[in-house]
Amino acid sequence: MAIETVNPATGERLGSFEPESPAAIEQKLARAAAAFAAWSHRPVAERTAVVRRAAEILEAERGAFGRLMTLEMGKPIVAAEQEADKCATACRYYADHGEDFLRAELVAESGAGRDAIAFEPLGPVLAVMPWNFPFWQVIRFAAPALVAGNVGLLKHASNVPRCALALEDLFQRAGAPAGVFQTLLIGSDRALALIADERVAAVTVTGSEAAGRSIAAAAGAYLKKSVLELGGSDPFLVLASADLEPAVATAVKARTVNSGQSCIAAKRFIVADAIYDRFTERFVAAMAALRVGDPLDRQTEVGPLATPKILEQVAAQVTASVAAGARILTGGRRLDRPGYFYAPTVLAEVPTNAPAARDEVFGPVAALFRVSGIDQAIAVANATQFGLGAAAFTRDRAEAERLSRELEAGGVFINQMVASDARFPFGGVKRSGYGRELSRFGLREFVNIKTIRSTGLPPAAR
Ligand code: NAP
Repeated sequence: MAIETVNPATGERLGSFEPESPAAIEQKLARAAAAFAAWSHRPVAERTAVVRRAAEILEAERGAFGRLMTLEMGKPIVAAEQEADKCATACRYYADHGEDFLRAELVAESGAGRDAIAFEPLGPVLAVMPWNFPFWQVIRFAAPALVAGNVGLLKHASNVPRCALALEDLFQRAGAPAGVFQTLLIGSDRALALIADERVAAVTVTGSEAAGRSIAAAAGAYLKKSVLELGGSDPFLVLASADLEPAVATAVKARTVNSGQSCIAAKRFIVADAIYDRFTERFVAAMAALRVGDPLDRQTEVGPLATPKILEQVAAQVTASVAAGARILTGGRRLDRPGYFYAPTVLAEVPTNAPAARDEVFGPVAALFRVSGIDQAIAVANATQFGLGAAAFTRDRAEAERLSRELEAGGVFINQMVASDARFPFGGVKRSGYGRELSRFGLREFVNIKTIRSTGLPPAAR
């Protein structure tokens, strides 16, 4: 089946790519294995120079990269350009800190030998990536993996082939030797088969629970290291002492970031009774006032959903939630225009068994829950299969500390929205996956943490 690129704002087909033949993929695997043999032995400084150069290109060409993302998956252009900037920041972060993160840790040293912990690359890493942050998801895997001495094989989501090719081109232009970063234009069935290949050392996936399950199963069958970054239904708590205006403004942004299609977008708004009516009134008004439209327009705040399938799924989840008893306060319909637009939506009185409470809704749909206070807020927040991020608004320090401890998530953010940052680990608990990206922890997912102990050696030559 051809890999198609379609503009979600118009439904217009922009291009089509034939999946690569088995022979072409075999050639890329062989090239990756050969590249790893050389790249893994290059000085770290040589590897960091490549990602530093990638940062420069990302910054210089933010406009072109941003436009490519917007045309292929519908992200508003301002956010798309910011995504290119964020990729540059992460590349620079690993360029600056790569040597430190990879330096062997000396445990003990004597005249006769030394005990140390070393960090060595694993080999070609297969990355199965999603379309929602088509550059950022790839860069946050690739920058640390390449700096560590691994090589990358990218199987990107099938609706963003041009982004996938642009990323391969980016690393080539940044000076990565042939085979160090390659894009494979194939469907997900063939990606699974690659995990069995002896030359693939490890796999990382960012995507849905279904993708995570099948990739983890294949990785398990072949005993390959895997990292899973999966879905989320992040809670956003507003407690009685919260500053109302910033809580509302942040809530709107947190739900509609990337037109609602973010794993760490706030999805369930859990609001204390004492502030619920005031919060809801302002939140609904702000959601209804969002500028929805052409993602190439710099004023647009919410663009289309990326594919017809996602639009149908979001619409079906809202319909089923209403059938289960939820009430629509605004939105609740697709927009009458070409492209895959869904109106920013707020649902209240959402029953716990409704899709908007139980599942991940990957679109601009907020579910409201009224709670008596912090105990019930924490219970509702944790009543989910997911555990990616959690945000809470409170001005009470003791409450903030309790929330930081008791919310079951990979990250807790107080008086701000959940966001990724190269300096901090990113990942989830429960069905949101395992392993971490970003920070030194992300870099160490794909290294052999090697114990080296030596004794009985003659004194080192001076
Ligand atoms: P998706 O359908 O799971 O696709 C993600 C990637 O996995 C694509 O490359 C896809 O290939 C591949 N894939 C899909 N099904 C597969 C299977 N059964 N076996 C092997 N590979 C498979 O997810 P998406 O719709 O693109 O992205 C949205 C999901 O990603 C959401 O659940 C979101 O929360 C999650 N996400 C998580 C994070 C995080 O860091 N935790 C970040 C962003 C997104 P094809 O396109 O060829 O099908």
